[in-house]
Formats: sequence, C-alpha cells, structure tokens
Amino acid sequence: MANPADIALEKAARFESLSDDDAYALLQVPSSDLAALCEVAGKLRDAFHGRTLTYSPKVFLPVTNLCRDRCTYCTFRRDPGEAGEWTMTPDEIGDWSRRARSVGCIEALMCLGDKPEIAFRDFRSFLTGHGVASTAEYVALACRVALSEGLLPHTNAGLLSKRDMAMLRPLNASMGLMLENVSPRLRDRGMPHHHAPDKDPARRLKMIREAGQLHIPFTSGILVGIGENEAERIASLLALRRLHARHGHIQEVIVQNFRAKRSTAMADCAELSDQEMLRTVAVARLVLGSAMNLQAPPNLSPEALPHLIRAGINDWGGVSPLSIDYVNPEAAWPEVERLRALCTDEGYGLQARLPIYDAFVTEQFVDSAMLPAIATLRTRAASGHATVQQDPGKGAAQ
Ligand code: SF4
Repeated sequence: MANPADIALEKAARFESLSDDDAYALLQVPSSDLAALCEVAGKLRDAFHGRTLTYSPKVFLPVTNLCRDRCTYCTFRRDPGEAGEWTMTPDEIGDWSRRARSVGCIEALMCLGDKPEIAFRDFRSFLTGHGVASTAEYVALACRVALSEGLLPHTNAGLLSKRDMAMLRPLNASMGLMLENVSPRLRDRGMPHHHAPDKDPARRLKMIREAGQLHIPFTSGILVGIGENEAERIASLLALRRLHARHGHIQEVIVQNFRAKRSTAMADCAELSDQEMLRTVAVARLVLGSAMNLQAPPNLSPEALPHLIRAGINDWGGVSPLSIDYVNPEAAWPEVERLRALCTDEGYGLQARLPIYDAFVTEQFVDSAMLPAIATLRTRAASGHATVQQDPGKGAAQ
C-alpha cells in the first residue's frame, strides 16, 4: 500500500486539492525525492500560469527605518540618532519616484519599521511637523506623492489596524504583510521574535483576515530558516490557504529565505540550503495549488534561480533597477535582462506586472480612486514599456 506521502503527491499530480493531512504527509517525502516533488510542482504551475513568469519593476522606498521591534536577524531597523537612521521626506519620496518612473518602474514599495511613533518621541514630533498624527497617515502622504509621480504604491508597513488599512486602501494597488510563521514558539526567550511584539502570529493573522474583510489584494508569505521546523512551515502555509479560502484576497505568497547578516545576533546561524529552499517552494506550490501566485526573491538564492523555476514559482517579486533591497542590502537584485535570459533557457517568458495581479483588478478589489492609474500602468506593462533601464546611480540611496 502506498504511503501517505506518495498518496499526497499523486493527488497533487491529479490536480486535486490536498487536505491538511496530505500537506503534513509531504514532510515524509525523502530529500532524495526532491526531483519528484519539483516535477509535480512545476506541472501545477504550468497548468494555471502557462510558460510566462512575472516580476514587478519597483523602487523600494524605506519610508522610515525606525522600528519599535528588535528581530534578531534584522539590519534594517534603527533607533533615533543611530548611524543610518533615515526617514524619507516627502521631497525624497518625490525625487526617488520620479527617477523610478524614468527608468521604467511601476511599483512604489512603501516598506518601513513597525510602529515607531509608539516608541520614539522624536518621531512623534516629526509626524506632527508634517501635519499627520500617525505613521500610517505619513505613509498615506508618501503614497499620494508616489501616485502623483505615476507609480502604484504597495504598502508593507508592518501591523496595521483595520482602520489604517481602510484609510490606505484608496491609495494602494495592493498591500502586504509577511505572516513569517504561525508558531508562537518563535517569540519565546532566545528566539528571533522575543523582542518583537508585532511578530505575534495571532495579530498578524488578524491583520491578514481584516485585509480580506476590506477586499484588499494582499501579499503575504513565510520567512524560512529563522528557527522554525518544517511542520511549522506547513502550518503557516495552511493558515494562509484558509484565509484565502475565506476571503479570496491573497494575491501572492512569498517564500523568503533568511539570510544571515554580520553584526546581528543570528550572524552565525545556518542559512537554508538551496535544497531545503527548493523543497519548501515545491511544497508551497502543492499546498497552495495551481492558481496561487508563488514567489521567491531572486536576490536571495542567486545560485538556484533555474531550480526555483523548476520548483514551481511563477513570479520573482519586485526587482529594482534603482534602489537596493534595504532589508537584504548585501543581496543585489539580478538585472532584468539576465533574469529574462535565464527564464528563456528554462523555456519561459518574462513579463513585467503591476503590484496588483490582473485577476484582482475588479470592482470588488480596487477602490475606484485607483482604477485610472492602474489602467494606465497596465497598458504600459503589457506594451513592454515597463522594461527597466539600469540606473547609473543604483544603490546610491541615502
Ligand atoms: S524585521 Fe521588521 S519588525 Fe523586525 S526589527 Fe526589522 S524592521 Fe522591525
């Protein structure tokens, strides 16, 4: 009689949805069977997404790197007065947005630390000086600037209240929050989220659920290699699947691998091997199904890009010709033409996309205020005019 892992693989190969038990049975697929796992995952991806992979030409705008949390793997966050502290002024947002538009970017990624106004009096004064009462309102101001320069904002501002998300919805093509992992264990003493109250999985699940209630096209994902085990990765994927089944709003799921950084408490922690990353991506495809947009950041696994395609991704996420990845500043994004050549070698095309996937450009998911900008940039992406130009000043931010 076939074992549960074989049964789960066969079900997936027949395009049947896996039960929770099937998903956990995939834990038993031996690492020597990675090729079989990837073969099924690749077939599932091809069945819905065909032979085209996508990426989002973006500029990463680190609205502020002040953050009240202290994740032990993070080099992004700063305290007030610390070297490298940076809160972008509206003028800086405008300058970067203009440059981004001129080199073919579509997305303005508003990425920032969590709730700095709660922790830092100086930042509260900064907000007051700009006529806003909260970080979320300052992000709204930044979104208006980026929109006026012809970009589509996608905000990932950490944990937001339902009210703040409702306020930001008419100014964003989509929004996001990494679930990271559902395991509360990661907040225990000695674990990476012990001093990060906003990484409480229950609160993150609540925000993702509320985004669904607000009909916000939403990006989420798992962060792998931070001390979770494989069963906890599957539990996290199943949690996202349940939320999407209920609200239909999760437009993409990212599988993001931890990269160890010098000067952090996790500097000596082992990173995920390429094999483990591929296995996680393939399992995510099987658990989430054929239709989900599945993404892995190409700058975080530079030696494994063809293998990531074979493991079932259909999207590379944001790739910037202009700004660095401020969360992983050591990891340069590949140039788009190199990415395209690599996709071609694997038998796939590469297409620029918007920060909102086409399937979500509906009355239900898009605020009417955003529709004209989305229509304009959709035409631009489809016509190939979004093909990015390398900016000579790349990486020269701050
Ligand atoms: S990972 Fe995000 S929430 Fe954690 S410390 Fe860094 S900026 Fe703050």
